[in-house]
Amino acid sequence: MDLKIKDKVAVVTAASRGLGRAAAEALAAEGVKLAICSRDRAAIDEAAGQIRKKFAVEVLSEVCDVSSKTGIEAFKDKVIEHFGTCHILFANAGGPPPGKVEEFAEADFRKALDLNLLSTINLVNAFLPFMKQQEWGRILASTSISVKQPIPTLALSNVSRAGVVAFIKSLSLDIAHLNISANVLAPGFIMTGRVKSLLQDRAQREGTTYEEALENVKNTIPAQKIGDPEDFGALCAFLASGYASYITGDTILIDGGMYKGIM
Ligand code: NAD
Repeated sequence: MDLKIKDKVAVVTAASRGLGRAAAEALAAEGVKLAICSRDRAAIDEAAGQIRKKFAVEVLSEVCDVSSKTGIEAFKDKVIEHFGTCHILFANAGGPPPGKVEEFAEADFRKALDLNLLSTINLVNAFLPFMKQQEWGRILASTSISVKQPIPTLALSNVSRAGVVAFIKSLSLDIAHLNISANVLAPGFIMTGRVKSLLQDRAQREGTTYEEALENVKNTIPAQKIGDPEDFGALCAFLASGYASYITGDTILIDGGMYKGIM
């Protein structure tokens, strides 16, 4: 199936590995040109090289810490200088450290808000004007199942991501008439470096092994397995596609049935 986005330009942040990398690869498989970033020069250049080799698409790789507004502005300048525009934005970042509410001070909450909420707002503010100009755009914000069902040991994540949903929903109302959609992705457990380190943290807290922590998590998931990053990437590519213009303002779970609510 041709997703009708060949030669569009996508900005994918925090893309050297994990979910960002999976989204970048799924878009590259559709012939989308990429601007990717992460904090580490060697890691992002290596990811770019591998994506170019595998998918034969143009990839711009830059260093950017998305917690920093000036960092995002500098990244945007490089993307626009190189590609002239942005059609698709996958706003992604690393996750804040695990822990319960009482384990964190105000400064920790501020840092988590910079990392997960303000990064999304600043990325949208940087790239939305180009989508408006061309009256075509797809904005995807990476969050977590925690926006629907908070995870007890991930207080910083629970708090900082809830605002992303409110921001994207509000934004979607203002831009839908310009053929620009804005949606939130809410993964449960997809196997990445982040999930491996969270499982290690759980094992430590529960006094179990990594393998036992993994089994315990799988038992909370009706599908009885951890998700595949490739499936996550494919969902991103579809939501960024020419066929997804009528899906906006939504929060889409990809969690093997882990969320237990009705709506
Ligand atoms: P990961 O640790 O495997 O990869 C994170 C990526 O983000 C890396 O490329 C890293 O270099 C980059 N990064 C980290 N901080 C950054 C920053 N400040 N600026 C720029 N790049 C930065 O994590 P992942 O599993 O791919 O998760 C991505 C996001 O999705 C995280 O916020 C995570 O908490 C969230 N999430 C993941 C899952 C999951 O199942 N994997 C579930 C829910 C939420």
